[in-house]
Amino acid sequence: MLQRKYTDNRGLLVVVSGPAGVGKGSICRELARTDGGPDVSISETTRPMRPGDEADVTYYFVDREKFESRISEDYYLEWARVYDNYYGTPRARIEEKLEAGTDVILEIDPQGAESIRKNFPSAVTVFIMPPSVTELRARITGRGSETEDQLVKRLSCAKDEIEQAPRYDYIIVNRENSLGRSVSELQAVITAEHLRTSRITAQDSRED
Ligand code: 5GP
Repeated sequence: MLQRKYTDNRGLLVVVSGPAGVGKGSICRELARTDGGPDVSISETTRPMRPGDEADVTYYFVDREKFESRISEDYYLEWARVYDNYYGTPRARIEEKLEAGTDVILEIDPQGAESIRKNFPSAVTVFIMPPSVTELRARITGRGSETEDQLVKRLSCAKDEIEQAPRYDYIIVNRENSLGRSVSELQAVITAEHLRTSRITAQDSRED
């Protein structure tokens, strides 16, 4: 009997962006902890460590010289300059994970998202939105890791980033005290995307 087998074997590449302080890190980490949850890529950066950062967990911290030489070696899946520092996604691990069927989240800025849209059209892009700019300001101030100068710079960048939200496939508003809801919404996006007809590979198989 001829049977069609519908399967989506490859992992999904999921881009998550959103302004600093919106809580995208917490959403991604929480989802990664669930059973069969996605892997969250660890980026390399040249920015100095901040309080709360953990080397090789939050980021791989590298110097500018090393980063620039890796750009020329095509080591990064994508990279960008954000707030005068370099940030990049190491390529090898991502390709391995996707091939093995694991979903991978890239927590990257809108420039990185644009480069992924161009080079990986099957990627899904999600923007995490604060309920309001006032709320975002309160969250960044509450984190206590920014000087006044950095705060002003970050808020102005946040406004620019929010303008990019319509370019994303999905928008999740991360409301106050609603981490669980945002995590479920991100999970729902990933589940639905796996069920997309265009993503499912139809294979003919014979059953005796
Ligand atoms: P932060 O310094 O606050 O950790 O991150 C600053 C910005 O850089 C955030 O928007 C974050 O999503 C972005 N970012 C972190 N890693 C990467 C990366 O590998 N590539 C790109 N393009 N952006 C990144």
